[in-house]
This record gives sequence, C-alpha cells and structure tokens, in this order.
Amino acid sequence: MKLKKCKTCNLYTLKEICSKCNKKTSDAHYKFVRVGNAPKSK
Ligand SMILES: [Zn+2]
Repeated sequence: MKLKKCKTCNLYTLKEICSKCNKKTSDAHYKFVRVGNAPKSK
C-alpha cells in the first residue's frame, strides 16, 4: 500500500482520492508518518 498525501488539506491518506475534499492525492515519500487509522502490519 502506498501512502498518499492531499496537498490541499495537508492530510495523509491511503486513498487515491482525498475523502475530505475529493481531490486527487499525490505520493508521500515519508519513512514514518502518522496516519490515524492505518494498520501497522501492512
Ligand atoms: Zn483533501
């Protein structure tokens, strides 16, 4: 799974589309991030 980031909301998500503003997200190349409900095992 790839981590994405919405540049509009400045929000990390795993989805292609931001659930907040419904805009397309872009790849986030972070080694460690804080995603509220992302499972750690994946
Ligand atoms: Zn957004």
